[in-house]
Amino acid sequence: MTAIGFIGLGIMGAPMAANLLSAGHDVIGFDRSPARTAGLANRGGRVAANLAEAVRGSEVVVTMLPDSPDVTAVVLGEGGVVANAAPGTLVIDMSTIRPDVSRGIAERARQSALRPLDAPVSGGESAAVAGALSIMVGGEPADFAAAQPIARAMGSTVVHVGGDGAGQTVKAANQLIVAGNIELLAEAMVFLAAHGVDRSAALKVLQGGLAGSTVLARKAEGMAERRFEPGFRIDLHHKDMGIVLESARAANVAIPLASHVADLIASLRAQGGGGLDHSALLLQVERLSGLNDGPFAPARTD
Ligand code: NAD
Repeated sequence: MTAIGFIGLGIMGAPMAANLLSAGHDVIGFDRSPARTAGLANRGGRVAANLAEAVRGSEVVVTMLPDSPDVTAVVLGEGGVVANAAPGTLVIDMSTIRPDVSRGIAERARQSALRPLDAPVSGGESAAVAGALSIMVGGEPADFAAAQPIARAMGSTVVHVGGDGAGQTVKAANQLIVAGNIELLAEAMVFLAAHGVDRSAALKVLQGGLAGSTVLARKAEGMAERRFEPGFRIDLHHKDMGIVLESARAANVAIPLASHVADLIASLRAQGGGGLDHSALLLQVERLSGLNDGPFAPARTD
């Protein structure tokens, strides 16, 4: 049993912390929004009154926060992880943040004798609940090995992909692929409906061929039923496409479709769709074809 401080109990963090509890670990959680901590308490986890309380006495600290400034503040800020963690503590950031910020945090944490890993995840809320996340890890090999029992309680695919920040670089590639997939699935769905083809029959046969994908398997049904509650918010995918484009520019590579999809996500967000699931890109494609008035148009019945 390991004492684990878990910071950020949102859509992903809450089920991940629950799986650590189920694996027999002693979890103390903290979220700046007190309403988010109820689930952990109901499952027998401990709730910290503040960030420092979640960190002190923990052998491992996991962060699952929205964005780079949040992780920077929690790990490096006053009363945060570096200020309160004992030497040798594993500090595992599972949020999706900028690789350069992740590297800076790791460097600073190591100066304080902590053991930092960047370990962003893929698979969405359903995989977080099932403990079946794909976890891409950057950092020192020995620290990766030490984190295995923790990561295995939350994920089914856990891979060390390189040094500090490498996990975040792989996660950026993941977000590029997912965004492009969803956009093309949305375009195919509008295209099929416009031709009057039975959409569920079409999606079934498409899933059996080269066009099949995890995105199609997990997202098409909800899109067809026009269910766009998150899941993964457009706001977060907008953040991630910023990471993708900045990282591509820094590496001097051209990724032209990424720019297109990033614009479509930004536009949907600018129209008020930031709180919807990223599968709401369907609404954007419909709008481009004059089929609705925007993200909050009434549901169509066809
Ligand atoms: P979320 O907004 O549901 O949860 C984030 C939580 O962090 C919130 O409960 C918030 O109150 C808390 N928080 C923010 N700042 C804090 C602070 N300073 N101290 C304590 N708590 C703080 O977001 P999420 O969907 O769980 O995503 C978390 C991270 O995981 C993001 O980086 C996201 O990009 C990534 N991610 C999300 C998914 C998904 O499907 N939702 C999938 C893979 C990766």
